[in-house]
Amino acid sequence: METRPSLIGLDREALRAALAGAGVPDRALSMRVNQLWNWIYVHGAKDFEAMSNLAGDFRKGLDAAFTLARPEIVTEQISTDGTRKWLFRTGPGIEFETVYIPEKDRGTLCVSSQVGCTLTCRFCHTGTQKLVRNLTPAEILGQVMLAKDALDDWPSTAPGRSVTNIVMMGMGEPLYNFDNVKAALAIAMDGDAIALSKRRVTLSTAGVVPMIARAGTEIGSGLAISLHAVTDEIRDQIVPINKKYPIAELMEACRTYPGASNARRITFEYVMLKGVNDSTADARALVKLVSGIPAKINLIPFNAWPDAPYECSDWSQIEKFADIVNNAGYASPVRTPRGRDIMAACGQLKSESVKERASARMAVEMAAQQSTQLSRMPH
Ligand code: SAH
Repeated sequence: METRPSLIGLDREALRAALAGAGVPDRALSMRVNQLWNWIYVHGAKDFEAMSNLAGDFRKGLDAAFTLARPEIVTEQISTDGTRKWLFRTGPGIEFETVYIPEKDRGTLCVSSQVGCTLTCRFCHTGTQKLVRNLTPAEILGQVMLAKDALDDWPSTAPGRSVTNIVMMGMGEPLYNFDNVKAALAIAMDGDAIALSKRRVTLSTAGVVPMIARAGTEIGSGLAISLHAVTDEIRDQIVPINKKYPIAELMEACRTYPGASNARRITFEYVMLKGVNDSTADARALVKLVSGIPAKINLIPFNAWPDAPYECSDWSQIEKFADIVNNAGYASPVRTPRGRDIMAACGQLKSESVKERASARMAVEMAAQQSTQLSRMPH
């Protein structure tokens, strides 16, 4: 059983403490933190041996105390359109998905924040999976690290990178896992680490109103709102968190979102559900609703999943809807479905993980430990 902790996901302060704990003298700490930070997040070092400007003894000491372990890859699937989806695992029953969407001028990584979800949005596949638990900073950032490993995307500062954008649009509600998402994104946006500018990172929320202002001031990424309906009556049904934080409160939080401007618009996501929210009257109401907010509207054709209770709007209806929004002066791109053949498109992610009672989980973990120990024993 691996007992050494991984350094992935620690902030600088925690890294400093870990190194101090491993015996690095005080006077060397700042330098060591900087060196490791650079190796881990700019160069993507997977082991200490690779850190060629560090003395051999120091590297050996690090290796005795720590690892740079990422999550384990369970499966990787590649869509006919080039989209990739990974299923990652960090422990028994802790599995989550990450999607890479290459486009002509950029590559977007769609990152999960939770295993399962509590929101139960009716059109979302993840919503049918109960929350197992929040992902840790190491698990959130680990998704970025592993995608970059797989895409040969190191060093972070090189031109022509594959991962140019991150969207927190995978499994889970990021604002219900605020601290961990914040910690992971801080490293993703640190100019001396993964170095993505905050304009290239977007956090999507179904509308956890009390956390929206904090997202603006403390995380500082772009904001996307999963709006999906223009009346509380419909939104209550399809995005149940609306019962707690209705549309008017959500819009008020958007109006006062720190950092929103014409240069940094809030994205409103709107899934096109046939006969539910896709009428021309809905389109006109949508325009009224966002008036006064620097906004763009992202129309998302509904992506089907087994036994989903909805159908995607007809293409002609999506076009009519988009035209109304566009003529009112808002950009209204229709999101091209990517990776549908591998169930990697918006709202299709789900893992088999189920929450087990703590005692059952312990039993599984112990069994897993025993089997690793056994498999490591010389025959
Ligand atoms: N919980 C956050 C992050 C998930 S983002 C949020 O709700 O914003 C995933 C996006 O895909 C959300 O806008 C979600 O509403 C949308 N989505 C979910 N299921 C979908 C489906 N079947 N087809 C298209 N979009 C879907």
